[in-house]
Amino acid sequence: MPSLRPLIPPAPPEVPAPAASPAPRGVPADPQKYPVNVGPSAIDGQGAFAGAAIPARAKIGEIRGEFVDMAEARARARRAERDTGRIFMVAVSERRAVDATASTDPLRYANHACEPNMVLKVQQGRVAFYALRDIAPGEELTARYGATHHGGRLVCRCGSPRCIGRL
Ligand SMILES: [Zn+2]
Repeated sequence: MPSLRPLIPPAPPEVPAPAASPAPRGVPADPQKYPVNVGPSAIDGQGAFAGAAIPARAKIGEIRGEFVDMAEARARARRAERDTGRIFMVAVSERRAVDATASTDPLRYANHACEPNMVLKVQQGRVAFYALRDIAPGEELTARYGATHHGGRLVCRCGSPRCIGRL
C-alpha cells in the first residue's frame, strides 16, 4: 500500500475573519480542542481517532505546518512520491499550501473517507477540522479530500457503500 498521501485539494474559499477579531497571525498556542490519538487504521496506514466524545459542529483541531508556494508544494509531493516518503500537504489558497510533514499535530493523520465525519476548512490560511456529526470516543476521524495529487491512482478503502473508489 502506498504510504504517500499528499493532500492537495482544490483550494476552498477562504473564510473572512469576523470584523471584531483581529486576523490571527502566526501559530495559535494550542489549536487542538479535543484529544486525538494516532493509531493503525483500517483505511490506510496510520489514522486519527477521537480521544473523547465530540459534538456535531465542534472544532476539533488544526494542522499546522510550513507555508510553501504551490510550485514548491508540487515539487515536494513529486519528490515524496518518487522516494515513497510520506507527505502531508494541504492547499490553503490558489497560491499557497501548508506542508505538515514535520508537524506533530495528530490530525495530519486523518484519512480520506467518502462519507467523512469531519470537514476541513481553511481559515486565514489555517487548516482546521470540524465535526460533521456527533463522534464517539475511539471513532476514526476522516475528511473528504477532494481531488488529490494522485489523480485517481489511489484506491479508496474507506468502506462506505457510497465510496467513489479512487483518489
Ligand atoms: Zn471511499
